[in-house]
Amino acid sequence: MRRKGATYTQSRPDGKPRGRISCYLGDVGQTLSPDNPRALCLRCRRPQAVCFCSAITEVHSRTRVVFVQHPLEAKVPISTCRMAHLSLPNSELHVELEPDASASLRARAAEPDTYLLFPSEGAKQPSELSAPPRNLIVVDGTWDNARKLLLRSPMLSRLPRLGLKPVAPGNYRIRKEPAEHCLATIEAVAQVLDAVERAPGRFTKILSAFDAMVERQLAFIAAHQGASRYQRLRRRNPGRSPVERLREVAPKLVLIFAEANAWPRTLEVGGYAELLHLAAIRFETGEQFEAVLKPRRELSPVAAGHLGVSAEALLNGEEVAPVLERFSRFVGDDTVATWGPYSLDLLRGEGLEGLPRFDLRGFLTQLFSRRPGAVEDCAAAIGATLPDAPRAVRRVIAMRAVVAELLRRKPIPSPLGEGARAAKSKSRSGAAAEASETA
Ligand SMILES: [Zn+2]
Repeated sequence: MRRKGATYTQSRPDGKPRGRISCYLGDVGQTLSPDNPRALCLRCRRPQAVCFCSAITEVHSRTRVVFVQHPLEAKVPISTCRMAHLSLPNSELHVELEPDASASLRARAAEPDTYLLFPSEGAKQPSELSAPPRNLIVVDGTWDNARKLLLRSPMLSRLPRLGLKPVAPGNYRIRKEPAEHCLATIEAVAQVLDAVERAPGRFTKILSAFDAMVERQLAFIAAHQGASRYQRLRRRNPGRSPVERLREVAPKLVLIFAEANAWPRTLEVGGYAELLHLAAIRFETGEQFEAVLKPRRELSPVAAGHLGVSAEALLNGEEVAPVLERFSRFVGDDTVATWGPYSLDLLRGEGLEGLPRFDLRGFLTQLFSRRPGAVEDCAAAIGATLPDAPRAVRRVIAMRAVVAELLRRKPIPSPLGEGARAAKSKSRSGAAAEASETA
């Protein structure tokens, strides 16, 4: 068993246990066997029957998140700190009772532009920072434990602090939080990264494993402790209903797709992948936007074929500035919906930042606990017909069809998978079940 005060450190990106991790695992190694349902997954440290590794969505952050976990919290079976760590490739997890005694933590704390996430008087709000901080140290533990850990650490106490006003009630319905507005560690980190990286919704994706875990635990409670406790927990905090969330944002959605002057990997040319073709469609009205941009560097030999736009049209395309201006006017105050982060990355590369965004692919991944694949395949699966048009135009029309289908509350058939949906419906968990209810 783990001795009091003993510490270990595990750091990404190698992901492999290091140092004294075997000490932490104690006798767990003996229980590992495929026949033993209580055997632990070495990555998420949960029994293999409830391993959440497959539900993890990795999101890269510019800020390095340094988790400092109180050793008592590391023993709690449902700790979201490890989940957050596994979801963020640019993060570290240290289990420490005496942070100041750890050489690696001392080195982190000494780096410039390092903040401590801890709401307190004088703490800055994420909106006050002009850029994402280099390091964000997050103390994980109950309020009492986190405070005690800080009392033991003059080093962490001295750091500038970042506070957080929760924007939505937490989904943490299993362990009792002291108040409704309290967030699980992973929820707090997702919110603060969204805010400091000015990427609303980007880090919501790391909650996929968390939401799946909460649903599973609630289903377990319902099965083993009777419906009454389940109902009470449900009533106390109804949690997020993804389809309802989509219904709220849909009237303001502008579905967009951006294409790049991307060179095949084997013929890499320098510079960033510049924007070549931009298509958008307003969800409510179907009003469309399209722009073909003149390449600023040599046109990739595969671009015309991939984009479905002739090389001639591309070479005679518009300049960047007027396109972005026209596009910004088209979007207005609305929210751009993308299929993954790529389109916005391209726009950002051209200097267009700060658009409110909604990642439809991330949303579907969360809803169905798996990646939906290509948007054209999703559209084909729901029987939508796509016009003979450039790829970006087809894709925004496909995205619009997918959103419309979701709002009709029908499940999307394959490629999202019969098996996954059947399993979801059976467990009555999540919005997937809700979505199939009225199909
Ligand atoms: Zn696992």
